[in-house]
Amino acid sequence: MQRFFEKLRYGLSGFMAGRYGVDALTLPLVIVSCACTLVSSFGNMGFLRLAGTIILIYALFRMFSRNFDKRRKELYAYSNLSQKMKKKIALYQKIHAERHIKKYFKCPNCKAWLSVPKGKGKLKINCTKCHHEFIRKS
Ligand SMILES: [Zn+2]
Repeated sequence: MQRFFEKLRYGLSGFMAGRYGVDALTLPLVIVSCACTLVSSFGNMGFLRLAGTIILIYALFRMFSRNFDKRRKELYAYSNLSQKMKKKIALYQKIHAERHIKKYFKCPNCKAWLSVPKGKGKLKINCTKCHHEFIRKS
C-alpha cells in the first residue's frame, strides 16, 4: 500500500512539473465554486450551478497551466483587489467603532474620508488632502 502511494506521489510530481500549481487565488476560487454549487442545490438555480462549475474548471485550468506570466498577473490583480477590499472593510469597522465620538464625511472634491468630533454643530471642514472646504453638521 505504501509503495502505491509512493508511486502515486512520484507520478503526480512528474505530472505537475512545469505547471503553475496552487497559489493564493486557488482557494478562494474553490470556496466560491463550492458556495455556488451548495446554494444552487437548495432551489432550482441552474445558472448558479453552472457558474460554480465554470469557476472550478477555471481554478483547475490555472493549476495545470504552463503560462506562468498570465497566472502571476491574475494573482497580482487578485491581491490588489483583496487589499483594497481589506482596507475598505477596516475603514468601515473604524467608522462603526467610533460612531459615538466621531462623524465621518467624504470630501466632495477628492473623495477622501475625514473625521470630525460628533455633536459640535455646523463645522467648516477643511480637507487635509486637497484643502477643499465644505460645511457639514457634526
Ligand atoms: Zn479633499
